[in-house]
Amino acid sequence: MAKAFVVDLGATFAKCAFFEKDEVQLKFEYPTSDRKNILERIVEEAFKKADENKIDIKTLDFIGIAVCGIVDNKTGTVIYSTNLGWKNYPVKAILQELFNNKNVVVLNDAKSATFGEWSRGLNKEPNSMALFTIGTGIGGGAIFDRDLVFGDNTGLPSEPGHGGGFQNEIECGCGLKGCVEPISSATGIERALREQGKVSKGELGKRYKELGDDLHIIDIADLFLGGDQEVIDIFYKALEPLAKIISVLIHFFDISIIVIGGGPSNLGEPLMELIRKQLKHYVLPDFYEKLNLVQTSLRGLVGNWGVYEYGKSAFNLK
Ligand SMILES: [Zn+2]
Repeated sequence: MAKAFVVDLGATFAKCAFFEKDEVQLKFEYPTSDRKNILERIVEEAFKKADENKIDIKTLDFIGIAVCGIVDNKTGTVIYSTNLGWKNYPVKAILQELFNNKNVVVLNDAKSATFGEWSRGLNKEPNSMALFTIGTGIGGGAIFDRDLVFGDNTGLPSEPGHGGGFQNEIECGCGLKGCVEPISSATGIERALREQGKVSKGELGKRYKELGDDLHIIDIADLFLGGDQEVIDIFYKALEPLAKIISVLIHFFDISIIVIGGGPSNLGEPLMELIRKQLKHYVLPDFYEKLNLVQTSLRGLVGNWGVYEYGKSAFNLK
């Protein structure tokens, strides 16, 4: 039975967990706002926690990490991470040395969330799946033929937020026109809520008056769920570019299940219903009838579970 230490390294904190026999044995969080020697400090904390809890680091089968950035999966190098300020950073080699263990797996965070959702949330049942996360940007990943998609040319898939020309309103930070991300991400939705908040005579206007540009999705979740039409219309419009890219994917690959994650997915079924309503304009009836679009079922440690499960298969562990 596999024993592992797994980190999901994000821009504000790292979620860390020791796994044993498919259970989380111990978990802790570590702030990452100070990026200096961040890997070394997390590992130091892990050794301390292991010691306090009588976990023997020497018996770990592998160490895994999910990183918010572009990862070269063959070498375990982080090619680029804006959030962490890394460029060509040899994460695998550093962790191998710190843990004195050659079994290290490094995954991009969207890919690890995808694998976590497929293996734990969906019990590896569907043969194909696509995950879209609505967050600061739009992340995502795919399972095809029961395997995580790593790409076959650049090795850099999991960037569904960019390209495609799915909207003509806002230029993306990446420099391309028409990306999904500036409109359909949580950042994009919040931008639209604030814009409308400025002129709204309804509840949204009142909330905006109170909070100004500190108005976030969480502050109007009750309005959305309570059926405030002005707020629902903003979401509906913002989700259109996302629906367009999902439509392309469905028609091309006939993916069996589409999973929606990220903060706004906590709005649950009403949000899924809005995406389905948008998809109705963009998906052929034969495909639409069989559309299976759901919110993520795993919370919190989905990235850690993804790396753990991926590591188990990579190192042939039960
Ligand atoms: Zn872009």
